Order: sequence, then structure tokens, then C-alpha cells
Amino acid sequence: MLAHTTIHYDGIWRGALGGARREVVDPADGQPFAVAAEGDREDADAAVASARTAFQSGVWPGTPVAERAALLRRAAELLIRDREELALLESRDAGKTVAEGRADIDCAADAFRYFADLLLGEGGGRVVDAGTASVHSVVVHEPVGVCALITPWNYPLLQASWKIAPALAAGNTFVVKPSEITPLTTVELIRVLTEAGLPAGVANLVTGPGHTVGARLSEHPDVDMISFTGGLASGVRVAQAAAPGVKKVALELGGKNPNVVFADACDTAAGFDTAVDQALNAAFIHSGQVCSAGSRLIVEESVREGFVAELSRRAGRIRLGRGTEKGVECGPLVSRTQLERTEEYVASALLEGAVLRSGGARPEPSATRPDGGYFYEPTVLDRCHRRMRVVREEVFGPVLTVETFRTEAEALALANDTEYGLAGAVWTADAGRARRMAARMRQGTVWINDFHPYLPQAEWGGFGKSGVGRELGPSGLAEYRETKHIYQNLAPRPVRWFSG
Ligand code: NAD
Repeated sequence: MLAHTTIHYDGIWRGALGGARREVVDPADGQPFAVAAEGDREDADAAVASARTAFQSGVWPGTPVAERAALLRRAAELLIRDREELALLESRDAGKTVAEGRADIDCAADAFRYFADLLLGEGGGRVVDAGTASVHSVVVHEPVGVCALITPWNYPLLQASWKIAPALAAGNTFVVKPSEITPLTTVELIRVLTEAGLPAGVANLVTGPGHTVGARLSEHPDVDMISFTGGLASGVRVAQAAAPGVKKVALELGGKNPNVVFADACDTAAGFDTAVDQALNAAFIHSGQVCSAGSRLIVEESVREGFVAELSRRAGRIRLGRGTEKGVECGPLVSRTQLERTEEYVASALLEGAVLRSGGARPEPSATRPDGGYFYEPTVLDRCHRRMRVVREEVFGPVLTVETFRTEAEALALANDTEYGLAGAVWTADAGRARRMAARMRQGTVWINDFHPYLPQAEWGGFGKSGVGRELGPSGLAEYRETKHIYQNLAPRPVRWFSG
């Protein structure tokens, strides 16, 4: 079993000050396979003190931009060197397939490279015209200071990288707190940063629960900024804890993402096949435990029956099993809690009149699906409507709801009828309609004839209750910066505003 010294500050690996530990469970069989330190508030305090000391010393904020960028690039190289090992660990920890794990590592490395390049491409500040030659005026960016980075369990290493890469690029020091149920690859990421040459105290890590470690980081007087990714309820608590300190807060929260399919997208056999295939991928990749999952299929009434029949047939054929097994296409849910939550949503939907077209149960154990694993069949619920809980709330499991429309206006109204606004897609052969829909959909990312891709150079984040702020892209770096205007009078003299 992995050692329990998963807490890191002042450049030293250690156990929790109180000595507590937590078993890390493999969701494919429900058995513990590693042990992590269970930090508490005092561990958070010690880690923040380490980050504060390192920040004040200037060891990282004062490092030249080219050296900071070089370190980020080294970190990317090391992630790729350790790709196989990290993908396996992510698979065991979070339940995803190894192929999904590999994709996560590649995307994490992309983020480190992107922020390195962004940094190198910037000038040293923006000179502004003060209207007179006797003034030199420049706008510069500085690091925010000590950042608390709090991450969820569905993309543990990737979400940590989306925060750590820009935080370091901007010259901050940080304390990262991964989800208590999936801490292991974040531990490895800190090892990678250390190997890449990051000075002691810059990168700090506390493993432990949200209500203790996360809550303390959110309220801590010596934390300048919090970047949080997780559920809506936790995000609200973080914002409330941060408010008295007037801290900078960035929140990446949930989603209830519409996937709108117009009939004209299915006019040809190839178009139909692509739209069905991508709807399947949108809803069921990583067992639907994706903040941008296309969990609401909104399909034009005239093609509904054929579309849903084919989608359900293919959902029933998805090969469920332990993520490390060959041929497995989808892993288990991350925890028993998540499995029971999914079951509860499906039961409530059926009571409210949804029609089950596929799935709706735990599968039988098999050679690739151990007894005790948190597996749930990919589930398609037809005849859903906007008043159902399963349509309004984030399930975060392999559950796809189907709603229908007859007009473009109706499709748009359904797509926007959610308190979230993270992502959405529109499928159509009509370029004008695609652009009209994309312009009016209230989501942070809109895909046209695609679902799920993102680019490190394009901002990611949500409208409405999906969050505040953006990750990735130039705005993703700006989140971790303060902006300062330096105004220099080159020929100072009295202003004589007052005559006496
Ligand atoms: P969660 O909110 O339970 O936990 C997220 C993190 O917050 C964990 O590290 C947890 O320990 C911590 N936490 C919990 N309570 C806290 C508190 N009071 N103060 C400070 N920290 C606290 O979420 P989860 O179940 O781990 O992740 C699933 C959620 O994350 C989903 O809602 C999903 O949509 C969202 N998510 C969003 C994005 C995005 O980019 N928008 C990406 C991934 C996941």
C-alpha cells in the first residue's frame, strides 16, 4: 500500500499532525488499496505558513519568467515520462479506464506547456499614453500571493493541473487540496514539480476532507485567493467562508448540459450515425461523471423514436468493468455514495413518468466486474420533461434524459432552461441555425456538431450557477494575477491646488 505521508509543506513529506489516516478505495471492487494522511485544520495552517514564507522570500515570484516557463515545460515532460504509471494510478483511484487516464495525463501536460508558452509570449507590461511626455505610465501584472486550490474526484490530476500550471506561471505559491477520495495522482504531481526543480515551500499539499482542510483554507487569513472546482453546495460554502476576508474566488461548479439535435443533422445515414455516436459519448464517458456531460438530450420530435432506439441499443452494449482490464469501455462510479445517488435519481424519474429505454440497474458481476464494485448500467430515460428532478439537477452518473421539441425557439428555450450554464451542443446541417443557436445558448462553451473537446488556449467555465471566473486561456492566467498601474512623473512640480 502507498505510504501515508501524503502531506507536503516546507519541502518535506509527512503524515497528518494528528496522526489520522484514510484508506483509499478502488471503486472497481470496493476494496482499499492505499492509505493517505487525513489532514485537519492545523495541517492546513502549517501548509499555508509554508506557502506564505516562500512567497514573501521572493524565491518563486522573483524567478525570471523564462525560468518559470522552463520549469513548467520540464513538469510537462516528466508527466509524459510517467504517463503509464500515472494513468494506471488514476484508473485505480477514480475508476476510469486506463485510456481515459492516459488522455488526462496528456491534457495535463498540454496545460503546463500552454501556460509556459503564454508566459513567454507576453511583453513585460503595457505602457499607456498619459497624454504628456513628462509621465511614464505602465500597467503590470503581479502574482496574487498564496493560492488555495481545491479539486474534485472526477479528473483529479487534470483539474489540479488546470490550477497549478497558471498559478505557478503567474508566480504564486499554493496549497492544493485534492478530493479526499482520490488524492493519489495529486501527490505524484507534487513529486513531479519537486523533481522539475521547484523550490521548497512553493508547492504545498494537504490531503484530507473538505469540511476541515477545505473549509480552513477557504477562510484562512493568509490565503489570498481560492480556486475551487466541485459541486454547487460546496462552492457556495467556499465563497461564504472567503467573503469576510474579501479574497479572490474562482469557482468551477456543476453542469446540466443540453445536447440539442435537429432532425436535419440526421438526414444522411452518416449524419445520423455521428450524432448518435457523439450523444453516447457525451453522456456516458467516465460513466457520466463529467461536469460537461451531455446529460440532457434535446431531440427534434420527428426523429426522436429512431434516434432514441439506436442510442439505447448502443448504450446497452457499452462494456462495463474495471478500468485496468483490456476491452473495458467504461469504469465504475467513484464511490458507493455516487452509486446510490444515481439509483435514487433513476427511481424518482420513473416515479415521475420517465420511460426506461436502457439500463436502470446495477449489472451482474463478471470476469471484468468484481462483486463489490460500484458499477451502474448506462441508462436512457425517455419522455422526460423540465419539471423532473432528473432533468433539473446534476446526477453525475451514467443517466441520459430525453426531451423533445418541434421548433428552433422551443429547442433554445429547453437548452437554456437550467440554472447551470457550463456547456452545450447543437447538431444541425443548417449553418445559419447553428450560429443562431450558439449565439443565444447561455453556456460557457457551445459545441457545433461536436461534443466535449476543449482547447487549453480557449477559456473554460460557466454561466449562472456553473461558476465564477474561467480556467485555461489568457483569462485562466489572469485569475491568478493582480493588476497594478505604475504612474511615474518624470518632471515633478507642485500642483498648487491649495493656495495657502
Ligand atoms: P465536492 O464539492 O463534494 O468536492 C470538491 C472538493 O471540495 C473536494 O476536494 C472536497 O473535499 C472539497 N470540499 C467539500 N466541502 C468543502 C467545504 N465546505 N469547503 C472547502 N472545500 C470543500 O465535489 P465532488 O463531488 O468532489 O465533485 C463533483 C462536482 O464537481 C460536480 O458537481 C461537478 O460538476 C463538479 N466539477 C466541475 C468541473 C468544472 O470544470 N466546472 C469540473 C469537475 C467537476
